[in-house]
This record gives sequence, C-alpha cells and structure tokens, in this order.
Amino acid sequence: MMNIAQKSHKQFLTRLSTTLVQSSQKCGTTSYNCSQSYSYSSYSSSNNNNQNKENNNNNQGEDHEQTKRKNKFKVEWKTISRPLLVGAALSMSSILHLEGEEKPKNPLDELVLLKKPSNGKQRIVILGTGWASLAFINNIDPSKYELIVISPRNFFLFTPMLASATVGSLEVRSIIEPIRRVLKRIAKGNCSYIEAECTEINQNENYVVISDSSPLEGPRPKDIKISYDKLVIAVGSVPHTMGTKGVKEHCLFLKEANDALRIRTKVMDCFERASFPNQPINEIKRLLHFTVVGGGPTGVESAGELYDFIHDDLVSTFPELVPHCQITLVQSADHLLNTYDAKIIEFTEKQFGRSNIQALYGSRVVEVNETTLKVMSKNDKKEYEIPFGMCIWATGVGPRTLTRKFCASVPDQKNQRAITTDAFLRVVGVPNPNVYAIGDCSTITQNKLLDKVADIFKEADVNNDNQLSIDELVQVVQKYTKTYPQLQPIASELPREFKKFDVNKDGFLQLEEFKQLLQNVDSKLTTLPATAQVANQMGAYLAKSLNVDVIKNEKNDEIHLPASPFNYKHLGSFAYIGSHTSVAEIPGVNFSGGGLGVWYAYRSIYWEKQFSLKNKVLLSFDWMKSIIFGRDISRI
Ligand SMILES: Cc1cc2nc3c(=O)[nH]c(=O)nc-3n(C[C@H](O)[C@H](O)[C@H](O)COP(=O)(O)OP(=O)(O)OC[C@H]3O[C@@H](n4cnc5c(N)ncnc54)[C@H](O)[C@@H]3O)c2cc1C
Repeated sequence: MMNIAQKSHKQFLTRLSTTLVQSSQKCGTTSYNCSQSYSYSSYSSSNNNNQNKENNNNNQGEDHEQTKRKNKFKVEWKTISRPLLVGAALSMSSILHLEGEEKPKNPLDELVLLKKPSNGKQRIVILGTGWASLAFINNIDPSKYELIVISPRNFFLFTPMLASATVGSLEVRSIIEPIRRVLKRIAKGNCSYIEAECTEINQNENYVVISDSSPLEGPRPKDIKISYDKLVIAVGSVPHTMGTKGVKEHCLFLKEANDALRIRTKVMDCFERASFPNQPINEIKRLLHFTVVGGGPTGVESAGELYDFIHDDLVSTFPELVPHCQITLVQSADHLLNTYDAKIIEFTEKQFGRSNIQALYGSRVVEVNETTLKVMSKNDKKEYEIPFGMCIWATGVGPRTLTRKFCASVPDQKNQRAITTDAFLRVVGVPNPNVYAIGDCSTITQNKLLDKVADIFKEADVNNDNQLSIDELVQVVQKYTKTYPQLQPIASELPREFKKFDVNKDGFLQLEEFKQLLQNVDSKLTTLPATAQVANQMGAYLAKSLNVDVIKNEKNDEIHLPASPFNYKHLGSFAYIGSHTSVAEIPGVNFSGGGLGVWYAYRSIYWEKQFSLKNKVLLSFDWMKSIIFGRDISRI
C-alpha cells in the first residue's frame, strides 16, 4: 500500500515532468526563432560589405555556404533540443524519485526472503565455495533449480598447491578463482552469490541465517534469513589444535590463502632479524629454526618447500646465515606420511635425511609459547624445549563452529566432529530429507552388517532350511548393497567369497559362517579422509543425484532416483617433498614411488586440473619466473 506522502510525492513528480516537457517544447520554438533572426542579421551584414563583383561573387558563394551551414544547424538543433530537454526532465524526475522511494539495489534483495522462487523452481542454498561446493555447482543442472551460494570467501582455492605459495614457488593469486566468475561461467548466470557467513541452520523451518562477513568498518547490514527447498552444507573444516595451549597465539596454520602469505612474510622476518648486526649466535639459530608440527602431507610439503626456498634462493642472499638454518618436523606417529604406502614412507624419510630435515618421531607438542615448543617424547616420557623462529601447525582438521552448533541441535547427530550423513549424503536426524552435507564437514554413517546379522540371515533364508545357498546369498547381497555400500566390492566375487567362508565345505553357509563373511565385509569400512578428492567426488555425486527426477515415497518425502549410494574411488595421492622430488601412489596403475619424474607428473596433473585457462597461464609464468629469476625474497 502506497502511503499518502508517497502519493503526493508521485503527483509532484508527474507535475514536474509534465511542466518540464511542456517548457522544453516552448524552448524548442524559441530557439528556432532566435536562430532565424541570427541568420537574417548575419546575411545583411555580409551584403553591405560586398565591394566588387568578383568579391561579390566569391562572397555570394561563401554566403550561400554559410546559409546552408546555418540552416543545417537550425535543423539539427531543432532535432536534438526536444529530446535533450525531455531526457533531462525525465532523468531529474527519476533521480528525485529514487531519493524519495528506496529501490532495491540488488536482485537478491527481492529474492532472499521469498519462501519459493517466483519462477516455480526449487531453491538450493549451498554453503561454501570450496572443493565440495564447486564440484556440486559444476554438475547441478542450473535450469532445474534456483541456486544461491553463501560463503565468506569469494573465491575458490586450489589447496593442493597452497604449500608452494608459502615460499613464492607460485603466487597465491595463481591458484584462486573468483567465485562470481566461476558461477557466471559454469552455472550460466542461474546462480547468485552472497559474501556472508551462515551463522545458523534451522532445519525444522527450512531456512538459514546469514551474517555479513566483510571486514569493512561502518554500519553492517542486518542478518537475514534465507529459506531453502534443499540445503547443501559444505563449509569445510578448520585447523585442529587438539586443545594444545599457545598454538593459536604463536603458530601459523596452512589452510587459507592468507596463511600462505603470512608464512612467506614470517620466513623473511626471521632472516632479516637474524641478519641484524650483533645478533648473538644463539638468537640467530633460534630465529632460523623452522619447525613444522604434523607429519602428514601438509606438514611434509611445507617442510619440503621451505628447504627449497632456503637452499635455492636465500643461500645467495644470506650465505653467512644459511649454515645456521634448521628445519625440524615434529610427528606424533612413528613415521612421516603414515597413511601412505610403506614404499613412499621409506622414500620420503630417506629424502628428508639427505636434505638434513630433522624428523622427531613419536613426539607430541604439549605447549607452545612465543619462542619455544614443549615436546613430550613417547619413548622416555620426558619433556623437551625446542626454540623456534617460526612454527607451522599442520596436525589435521576439526569442525567449524557452525558444524558443531548444527550437530548439537540435532539429537541424532552423535559425532560432534562432523555432520553424519547416510550413504546418499543426506544428513541424519533432520525432520525433512532435504539437507545434505558434503566434504570435510561431513562423515558418512557406518552401518554395520553385523548389527543386523540375524535379521538379514532370516530374510535371506527363503526356504527356511537354516542355511544359505549361493543363490540366496546373491539375492540378499543384491538387496542390501544400497543400504550397506560396503557389500559393493564383494558383489562381483560372491562365488569366491562363498567358497572361502563355507568352512565345513557342505555347499551352504550356516549362521556362524555367514557371520564371519559379514564381519570380513564390515572390517573394510573406513572413514573417508578429509581430502579435496573426496569432497570433489561427493559434490559431483550429490549434484547428479539431484538432477534426476523426483518421486514421492509413502511419507510424501521426495526421493531422487536412481541414486546408488556414494562410492568413493581413490584415484591416487601426491605429495611434494622438496628438492624437485614428489611421491605418489596411483592405485589405477599400481604405482607407488617418488622422484623427479613423479614431480613432473605432479605438476602436470595439478596444472591440468586448474579450473581456468587464466590460472594455467599464471602458473606457467610463476614456474618460469622462479626458474629464471629465483623466488622473490621481499618481505611485504
Ligand atoms: C595445504 C593443504 C594441502 C592440501 N592438499 C591436498 C591434496 O593434495 N589432495 C587432496 O585431496 N586434498 C588436499 N587438501 C585437503 C583439501 O583441501 C580439503 O579436503 C578440501 O578443501 C575440502 O573441501 P571442502 O569443500 O569440504 O572445504 P573447503 O575447501 O575448505 O571449503 C569450505 C568453504 O566453506 C566456506 N565456509 C566456511 N564457513 C562458512 C559458513 N559459516 N558459512 C558459509 N560458508 C562457510 C569457506 O569459506 C570455504 O569456501 C589440502 C589441504 C590443505 C590445507
């Protein structure tokens, strides 16, 4: 409803624009008359000045030209004067109009609070702009849904190459993609982005609350609610400090783009401070002691990159300091990269030995202060103090505040470190089956077959003879593969499995033998690692299953068919360990090892995996630049 003030304001504007249009018409006539009188006087003055014929003729010719030009001017002025004045009147009225009534600046202003998008499409709200979300957006059919992406980070970060950015082997901007451009390209404009942090998920009323996350000072926009038909939670994780005192205050993490820049600055700070005149030797040694806590891929890569920076680039600038440098990696387990193949572990440990990177195995950091780490050794249970100049904390990841808050609000979410989903990536325990969690912030529930062994056996035993034939086993496995994805690997090898567990060789499986078979299947259940590969596959899987048409079940819930359970395929892992050497395990080709060739393969594969041509070009330039000129050693 328009109020009275608005009405009178509108009437005023209408009157104003009418007056302006009328006066513009009058002015058009006046200007025409003016130009007529001007042309007359100029013509007569030229006539009086004509003395001889030739001159006269010449002047007549010029006068004719002048008259033509003036007539042309009259016509042009007449043509443009009216529209000009009308245009001015209208734009003035629209400026006044805008000032009077606040118009929406952004198409989202009208969209966000609507329960349903006006185009009749279902709305999917996606939280996050990381690996999982990007894979989801890349695969979802944008013509079927209205997509709204919410994240405090307006870019995608190619994390597998982040360690290289800590020392300038490449620039951070070469491995990030502005999300608005990505969305424009892959979702063809059918996707909106809001730079904000989701602070609350209301799964009962199907909305999220978002808060402006800009670091700008000044008035903040109010938090708003955005309703959804489907919600995809892909908010990732945060570095896990394991509650260790002093970590947040005195260590650097390697998780986000800015972390890489901080590390780069800190390394140079340490070198510059160490080169200050009259520094005592102990202080130089402390400043140039670079420690990394955590012997997983992130820790190992950070140590490897640091080694390269010091020995390839800083050595020529600080030749007197480099002999005092030391890199130490503190690892609580007994080996580096302990989730990798034994061959890779051995290769990496040998390479670190050659590079003089010290690895402290079986050692746990119990406290960090400004200049020292307190480390407890597993062997002698004693605490040691290790002075350091810079410490990178890379001990794994934990849940974000939003993840914790959400899990606490759903009674069935027992795991407080990640959001538990079923095998179809639907969040467990929410009232509507329209909330999904993917990537680092999620974990797939592990339904154990053994918990239901008696029921499954009874159901499988079709002829009630208290034993299962091979046909009965095949049928029950087919039936339960969707609910228990761990059955998938044995589905194609059932005759062999049957023989293996038919201990008494009577051609049937009795309950005890069947139990052994299921126990063996359950033992293969593992929690998926928090990796980009898993997140990427989850995002793509979920999008594809939401692209298919929906049916409604007896409870009127929407079910997307024909989604089979999510099945992770491990394609392989790479890690850079310094000195132009990478290690890799690639199950598809049964490869596990390391070396210069693997380093080339590592770079080629990651180069190829960049989302844009721009980043491929930037990466190539960065690599060339560091080969030709060395890494930049400025402290910005
Ligand atoms: C240095 C490093 C190297 C790595 N190397 C590899 C590797 O070689 N191979 C590999 O497979 N994996 C690697 N990983 C792991 C990989 O990066 C993660 O597993 C992956 O990023 C997880 O993807 P995600 O989408 O779940 O989360 P992320 O990629 O972390 O994205 C989370 C997104 O959610 C947003 N967000 C956070 N809070 C909110 C909120 N409240 N509301 C809305 N949005 C929010 C964030 O801004 C971000 O955009 C590496 C990680 C690091 C740090």
